[in-house]
Amino acid sequence: MRFTFRRGIHPEGRKHISSGIPLTDFPTPAQVYISLSQHIGAPAEPTVAVGDKVMAGTLIGKANGFVSANIFSSVSGTVKALMMRPTALGTKANHIEIENDGQYTKELLKPLEIINKESVIARVKEAGIVGMGGATFPTHVKLMPKNPVDTLLINAAECEPYITCDYRLCLEKAKEVVRGTELLMIALGVERAYIGIEDNKPDAIAALKDASTDNIGIIPLVTKYPQGAEKQLIYSILRRKVPVGGLPADIGVVVDNAHTAYAVYDAVDNNTPLYRRAMTVSGLAATPGNFWINTGVTYKEVFEKQEGLSDTAKVISGGPMMGFAQANLLPSVTKGTSSLLFLKESEFNEEPITPCINCARCANACPMRLMPMFIDQAALQDDIEELEKLNIMSCIECGSCSYSCPANRPLVMSIKRAKNLLRKQGGKK
Ligand code: SF4
Ligand code: SF4
Repeated sequence: MRFTFRRGIHPEGRKHISSGIPLTDFPTPAQVYISLSQHIGAPAEPTVAVGDKVMAGTLIGKANGFVSANIFSSVSGTVKALMMRPTALGTKANHIEIENDGQYTKELLKPLEIINKESVIARVKEAGIVGMGGATFPTHVKLMPKNPVDTLLINAAECEPYITCDYRLCLEKAKEVVRGTELLMIALGVERAYIGIEDNKPDAIAALKDASTDNIGIIPLVTKYPQGAEKQLIYSILRRKVPVGGLPADIGVVVDNAHTAYAVYDAVDNNTPLYRRAMTVSGLAATPGNFWINTGVTYKEVFEKQEGLSDTAKVISGGPMMGFAQANLLPSVTKGTSSLLFLKESEFNEEPITPCINCARCANACPMRLMPMFIDQAALQDDIEELEKLNIMSCIECGSCSYSCPANRPLVMSIKRAKNLLRKQGGKK
């Protein structure tokens, strides 16, 4: 059986730039700026004041509600300021500036006395664990689904071009990823899990197979974009379809990222809250690598370590398909920063936008079976009724349509704008 989904695209992977480079520690600078909004949901409330001494692992922001997550210091040192700073999404959020004393003295969580459903969920919440594939949804919320769940899927697909940090993690820390998977299974009360990983990573697949147990299957997925999108992953492995407007839990499935599973292992077995992550630095203008990097390190600090400084024409946080081009280098690394790309001009398309030629390539590429060309037209006219008819809210913003368009139509941008318009209209109603 071929584990795949319908439609999608085959962009050039460019993983070779960084895939052969093992994870090493990224040097943490004298100052870090830790965002209190590193997750989907309410920003955390600061628990420290200027002048306070902290350790790596000290709680500095408390989750503010059910859909929110705790934030921890990534260094030991002194709190210097609380301030609003830009984020990678182009918004602003409260940050805590900490002067790093270079000692990295650690504050750990209390060891769990017993490992069961309740204690693992409580630990995931306490450790501030969120979806680390980029979605940053608080993981404890996913571990308490309203509907009964029978299967856990671990997403190690890493289908975005350039990014290789999950690949290195699965290769170098396969046992830990599998252990995290077992802990997530305990939290969900399920007896079956699958780790899905694209078949262009045979050594990581072998490492995971060696480490896995009978009830955790390792599934080599067809290499195709967006294989790592939640709905496509579920269909590829289980042939189940998430209903329109529904959640994976509605069809008995929870999906977590491989790095999230690793973070759960670290929080339960090593009592370490989430304040650092694996991140890829890549692109033809980069000095490529895969790094363990502390949250709060600014993009500027990473940029200044690149040899191709003057060749950098674009900086992207995340992958080239779903990531965010950066207007400046002030944002800092968060729990969701999977990669920073430093691209030369030759790596992206700056050709002019021309009118649609009705070729339907965008529709043929869309994994959600939408009609991007009609959505684009309705979006340009702010035609809310038509946008709803065209099921715009099912768009997963994967970018396959824009990638395929010979007229260079900025389809995803148009769809995102229209979705915001629709949300505002909904708000008014
Ligand atoms: S319409 Fe949305 S889901 Fe379909 S290809 Fe474009 S971005 Fe992806
Ligand atoms: S791919 Fe581009 S040109 Fe072709 S139908 Fe879609 S929007 Fe129009």
